[in-house]
Amino acid sequence: MTALKIEKTGEQAGKPENPEHESLRDQGLRKRRLAMSFASYMVTFSIVIYCWLQNMIPFRVVTEFLAASLLINGTFWYLIHTGRNLRFRDPSMTSAQMIVSLIPALWVMAFLEAGQARAIFLLIAIVPMLFGILALSKRQFLFVGLWFCGLYALLILGLWAYRPTVLDGELEILQAVAFLLVMAEITFIGGFISGLRGKLRQRNRELGEAMEQIRELVNVDSLTGVYNRRRLFEVIREESSRYSRSPGSFSICLMDIDHFKLVNDTHGHQAGDAILKAVASCVAGDLRTIDCFGRYGGEEFLMVLPQTPLEGAKIKAERVREKVASLKFPDIGDNFRVTVSIGVAEYHNDESTDDTLQRADKALYRAKDAGRDRVELAQQEVPAEQLQ
Ligand code: GH3
Ligand code: MG
Ligand code: MG
Repeated sequence: MTALKIEKTGEQAGKPENPEHESLRDQGLRKRRLAMSFASYMVTFSIVIYCWLQNMIPFRVVTEFLAASLLINGTFWYLIHTGRNLRFRDPSMTSAQMIVSLIPALWVMAFLEAGQARAIFLLIAIVPMLFGILALSKRQFLFVGLWFCGLYALLILGLWAYRPTVLDGELEILQAVAFLLVMAEITFIGGFISGLRGKLRQRNRELGEAMEQIRELVNVDSLTGVYNRRRLFEVIREESSRYSRSPGSFSICLMDIDHFKLVNDTHGHQAGDAILKAVASCVAGDLRTIDCFGRYGGEEFLMVLPQTPLEGAKIKAERVREKVASLKFPDIGDNFRVTVSIGVAEYHNDESTDDTLQRADKALYRAKDAGRDRVELAQQEVPAEQLQ
């Protein structure tokens, strides 16, 4: 929770999704998609049963279709259930599912007595293509389209060789041409949609990055790159509400650069800006990840130290003070140094965060009065009613 490099902690930016949960959710989605695909196999199965009832195919083909459907879907379910699919480049196995999906239907077509009924199965081939529209890339789509046409050509060649009597020349040509055209059309539309999906993904990514940048800019001081006053107040509020849930201790250190006006007046405003940046990065680079540091305003900075009592905060503040005092500014002068005064206060649950800030501010003024380049601790103010 330092600054300069803004890190996301759970409280700060909403908890990032646990990758394990994400993977579980994706696997659940894949199983649901597989269930949908199995349902579509069963729709085809009901047509297969109807064909058998009409004596268009032998019963053996009905059982073979069912067995193939169960085997195919069972295998995919096993792969997802055991997580083996995660080793593949496409864990959803969309193209694989599409590639095998037509095989049982083609098997049925090979045994159909009535050639005209083959058109029904050509229609069925369109369903897996629709599944693919939402997942495949242009190239994959083209490949699956060609694969379907190839399978159909193989079927016709096989029938021509082994069962030429079931082929009806002109009708077969008409069906094949219609199939090829429809497949080409779906492939074209699928490729087009896949291109749109790619663009949409790219836009989403850009939008996500822009949102991330905006989120950072809203919290960051543009000159120094550390957190700004808005974010500091947010963190203080978060810490005080955490305190009310589980009392611990947290402290704040209000830091002010000494004689900064003089620096500006002597060396110019640009030199002053450079000093602000150097001091900010020197302090921010030396904090625990749960600590928060930012620019409170002008040449004042604030450190919020969660889980740190007053004594610990004092040690930290002393270290920061020494570190700043040792910073060198060769561009301004070999012996030029800046110092800071720091007021430290620990939050108490019977006060508001404004009270804590006020106590830190008073301690800071004491540090200034006592000669600057020093750390002063805030006293816990005794409530007026306890004084009587
Ligand atoms: P003290 O030791 O009592 O803190 O003295 P000081 O001169 O630091 O205090 P004062 O509050 O009088 O001066 C603060 C100066 O900080 C005034 C202003 O010129 C300068 N300052 C505030 N913001 C910026 C900034 O963004 N850039 C620059 N270069 N100077 C700034
Ligand atoms: Mg000041
Ligand atoms: Mg000052």
